[in-house]
Amino acid sequence: MINLSAISAGTYAVMGLGKSGLATVAALCSAGAKVMAFDDIPEKCAEARKLGACIEKLTTTDLTGVSALILAPGIPHTLPVPHPVAARAKSLGIPIIGDIELLLRAKPEACIVAITGTNGKSTTTALIAHILESTGRKVAVGGNLGNPVLAFPDDAETFVIEMSSYQLELTPSMAAEVAILTNITPDHLDRHGNMAGYASVKEMVFRSPKGKGTTIIGVDDDFCRTIASRLPAPVPLSLETPQPSGISVLDDGIVRDHENAVFDMKDAPHLRGRHNAQNAAAAWAACKALGLSEDAITRGLVSFPGLAHRQQEVAIIGRVTYINDSKATNADAAEKALLSFADIYWLVGGKPKSDGLANLALYNNRIHHSFVFGMAEDAFAGYLSAHGMPHTRCQTMKTALEKAHDMAQAAGHGVVLLSPACASFDQFNSFEHRGEVFISLVHKLEEAGEA
Ligand code: ADP
Repeated sequence: MINLSAISAGTYAVMGLGKSGLATVAALCSAGAKVMAFDDIPEKCAEARKLGACIEKLTTTDLTGVSALILAPGIPHTLPVPHPVAARAKSLGIPIIGDIELLLRAKPEACIVAITGTNGKSTTTALIAHILESTGRKVAVGGNLGNPVLAFPDDAETFVIEMSSYQLELTPSMAAEVAILTNITPDHLDRHGNMAGYASVKEMVFRSPKGKGTTIIGVDDDFCRTIASRLPAPVPLSLETPQPSGISVLDDGIVRDHENAVFDMKDAPHLRGRHNAQNAAAAWAACKALGLSEDAITRGLVSFPGLAHRQQEVAIIGRVTYINDSKATNADAAEKALLSFADIYWLVGGKPKSDGLANLALYNNRIHHSFVFGMAEDAFAGYLSAHGMPHTRCQTMKTALEKAHDMAQAAGHGVVLLSPACASFDQFNSFEHRGEVFISLVHKLEEAGEA
């Protein structure tokens, strides 16, 4: 756990007691801070009480003397409507911050690598941590992915932190040795108002580069290009155009300064697709900036085992491959998977995002048949019909998988791909839950085939 004793004098209010909220309570209490905490779920309050917090309804209790409100990133403090506790803190002039802000305040000298972007955050984060760890460095990895930052081991040499836009908004002291912005495409607009608002939050990752801090930025979209033009000395990263003083991906190769081929993506079996070449290139530039040798980076890229729920190969039954890409919760992410495979039996649906299936008609030639489920069924079936794409309405993911399995097995080849382009919350608790259910259903089909 992070030692917060440098900042523990005072009283803190913690609202939202999920993983990061409870880790915050634990770190503050064990450093001797006074903590008031609340969550709508009584069991969460009970856990916080055990850790030493006073449970107080933060909407009514006296907040005089509270030095900061630590808000869970999922709780809105501006749009669409501020949560009442956030509104109250604001009216009382109490700063609203997140757990990552506490880490930065307690450890101003820490070596921080911060990664944000609409897509590719987790893969890039895990990849950088893997490469650093494979050289023997003591690395803490987490944030938006996995472990909350205040649960990190205090003595880590490098902190590799995935940051969502919500977390960035709550981190006014953002300062990193290496900051990465992978890309910006429409997402979370309910919380940020519009694309300009969303992009300006993403830009916060570059707020104050530490010392000679390195800023790495994907420059294949207009929002990122505009941000890059405001940075003093960015390392631009592109899949589309060679970068004379940056990193690009030409064919399958990562190329530095438009001259030096530094890595062949064919050597990284768990980083399929051009989008993963972008993640690998970002990781390459970050690790180089952190002083690793090119050989060490190559070894780390080659040995990266991949992340669950991102184009994860689950099984091969007969000559059909089953892929779990449950993490593709928007059209842009699903598009990446559709571009990574051919002969696809596509499982798509869930709770749709505002941009629906924009642009996917382009992949008519790759998608053999689509199987539509969840809340998005009507809208997506309508969209696919309008684009002349064969599809079947299935209501649930289970039915979608069964029908896709039957069709692909009858054909004797192909890829059954769960890449839903939707949030999971209509039928599942999370994208991880949706992916786990998919994996177990595929294993049942596998066992049935062997029986
Ligand atoms: P994030 O943490 O930002 O959601 P992940 O690394 O978990 O990103 O990847 C989620 C999905 O987004 C992947 O399954 C893939 O479809 C897509 N994706 C990954 N990297 C990129 C990228 N660099 N550009 C665009 N899409 C990507």
